[in-house]
Amino acid sequence: MFKNFFQRPKYATVSQKEKKEKQKKKDEDNNLSFLWTKCKDCGEIIFNKELEKNNKICYKCGYGFRLTATERINVTVDDGSFEEFNEDIEATNPLQFPGYEEKLKQEKDKTGRKEAIVTGTGTITGNKCVIAILDSHFFMGSMGTVVGEKFVLAVEKAIELGVPLVVFSASGGARMQEGLLSLMQMAKTSAALNKLTDARLPFISILTDPTTGGVSASYASLGDIIIAEQGALIGFAGPRVIEQTIRQKLPQGFQRAEFLLQHGLIDKVVARDEMKDTLGKILELHSVGG
Ligand SMILES: [Zn+2]
Repeated sequence: MFKNFFQRPKYATVSQKEKKEKQKKKDEDNNLSFLWTKCKDCGEIIFNKELEKNNKICYKCGYGFRLTATERINVTVDDGSFEEFNEDIEATNPLQFPGYEEKLKQEKDKTGRKEAIVTGTGTITGNKCVIAILDSHFFMGSMGTVVGEKFVLAVEKAIELGVPLVVFSASGGARMQEGLLSLMQMAKTSAALNKLTDARLPFISILTDPTTGGVSASYASLGDIIIAEQGALIGFAGPRVIEQTIRQKLPQGFQRAEFLLQHGLIDKVVARDEMKDTLGKILELHSVGG
């Protein structure tokens, strides 16, 4: 018995051959990436220009590729209605984490944003709401002190205006470089939502690809209505980490939006081209005072 125990490998191992094949495939994909994109869901190869035209939706299976916050606003909010607030709040380096300032600067230059969340007011099919959008292109949409603070300010704005809160999440989790201060945002954002509940205003949480870590484990799972975009990866730890821990193969489609719907964790899976209308209908049903 003891012998068997000690003979078990500590971690799931990947053979050299598998590693090489994976890298070769990655290189091939990268070489073609300026012209073509491979659908993560169905594997279809799509011409990039086609993809842009189609709001980054796979024409074959409907999978929605990751959007920047600006693209998300364009496909969701009524034209010209979005007014951003608190756009100038920026992160500092509270723990003096080596290299954090440089990395922040790189992310700012790359995206033209100052942080991983954009908050503002706008209308969706004519229904006014406060909207917050996490951008996975900025530091993987990770939640640090600024994301937490801007989220809370958005909740307070919704209460002040007496309108619903709509949040699109896309995040790798807590921001490692801000350590414990990042983890505190989980409690801070969750607590703020209680004030929204007291004000009897709905919080509609939309989980897009990917919503993981500290974000999935805090406010994103606390929506009065939780919607996931088709094909989105949603979970706490990644599938590889779980497989290595429990030493079992995970079922097909594990942590995908559709799997979560089957298991009762979310209310609805919606394709991107139907998201605006769906949100509009929900907001209309919950409109306060007409
Ligand atoms: Zn597809």
